[in-house]
Amino acid sequence: MAAVRNTLVVGGGIAGMSLAVSLRKIGVAVDLVEIDPEWKVYGAGITLTAPSLRAFEELGVAERIAAEGNVTHSLKVCDANGLALSVMPMRGLTGPGSPGNGGILRPVLHSILSDAVRAEGANVRLGVTVETVATDGNVTLTDGSHGTYDFVIGADGLHSQVRTLVFPDAPEPRMTGQGCWRVVVPRPREVDSGQMFLGKDLKAGITPVSRDEMYLFYLQHVPDNPRMPDDRLHDILAGQLAPFGGLVGDIRRSLGPNSNINYRPLEAILMPLPWYRGRVLLIGDAAHGTTPHLASGAGLAVEDGLVLTELLGTGMPLDHVLDRFMTRRYSRAALVVNNSLKIGELEMNHGSAEEQTKLMAAAMAAIAAPM
Ligand SMILES: Cc1cc2nc3c(=O)[nH]c(=O)nc-3n(C[C@H](O)[C@H](O)[C@H](O)COP(=O)(O)OP(=O)(O)OC[C@H]3O[C@@H](n4cnc5c(N)ncnc54)[C@H](O)[C@@H]3O)c2cc1C
Repeated sequence: MAAVRNTLVVGGGIAGMSLAVSLRKIGVAVDLVEIDPEWKVYGAGITLTAPSLRAFEELGVAERIAAEGNVTHSLKVCDANGLALSVMPMRGLTGPGSPGNGGILRPVLHSILSDAVRAEGANVRLGVTVETVATDGNVTLTDGSHGTYDFVIGADGLHSQVRTLVFPDAPEPRMTGQGCWRVVVPRPREVDSGQMFLGKDLKAGITPVSRDEMYLFYLQHVPDNPRMPDDRLHDILAGQLAPFGGLVGDIRRSLGPNSNINYRPLEAILMPLPWYRGRVLLIGDAAHGTTPHLASGAGLAVEDGLVLTELLGTGMPLDHVLDRFMTRRYSRAALVVNNSLKIGELEMNHGSAEEQTKLMAAAMAAIAAPM
């Protein structure tokens, strides 16, 4: 029998929804509060690595991800003009022939996870958040209600309110100096895998996210964090992509005021140990918000919920669960956050491609190990 019976999950993103699903599977009661009354997510794509696909498989949603998103077995590396330099096999971690790379539109992933949350019987309350959180599990909510929980989990993202309330001396997320552009475009039939395009000091990439769509991503060095006006996004992105030809050049020429473009300055945070106080724990981006360089933030968020549920399911007392959780999660998350930040710094400072590849390979090998 699990060490806790009733839980409050604050935040219905990838971390909160995954945790809610896995806790319900072992019979733990879950109240999930999400601040957004419409429980929406913005329309960009997301890239899924082999460890992320493994985590979704364990959660029980991999089939729908493969059907409604896209999974592949390779990654093509090209020069800035789209000339193929190599094709890297991407092996999966869930058995022979399993896919090692994938992509999906965030709203599609959101509906797969939110369907699972509801199907497993979590009690979802939208447009509500916490006003106070005590470390003994007593909370007040913004709708005026009170609750007493065995366990409160802050899964409320990079700018976590639970972190502010419970860890007032925690660091704030910091700007990294890069901004991420993403645009969803039609997928030409010949694009059968993810692709990276390597220019001089510039990288762009493409991830297919469904049979008919793919998204392009590109990181810009933005030391002064300029405002990017919505009505100029297509012009600014087109200017950034000017050094690229081939497929990226085709996408650049197709950009216009109606393009589905998302721009976001990058921020990161790594909470120092421990991520809990009393009966309150932080997971996902609230504890380890990372940049997209290793495409691993979503996978880490899902893994947090799976590992926590596995430990709670043993029936050991909550303080032991929390200690073991930190042992299993801290160094893994720290490696992803720190190597992502280092790769970003190398990109901004014209660092060597070999060093970037080494950091990427080290992190990917480490997170391919069991979670
Ligand atoms: C530009 C960019 C590109 C990325 N690309 C990738 C990628 O390709 N692959 C990948 O794996 N990862 C990627 N990531 C990282 C990934 O998006 C995150 O790691 C992941 O979304 C973390 O999930 P989360 O649930 O912890 O946080 P979030 O996704 O931020 O979800 C938090 C949820 O909590 C809600 N919330 C916020 N405040 C409150 C509150 N006070 N009370 C209640 N609810 C609240 C929010 O509305 C939201 O629903 C990228 C990140 C960025 C910034």
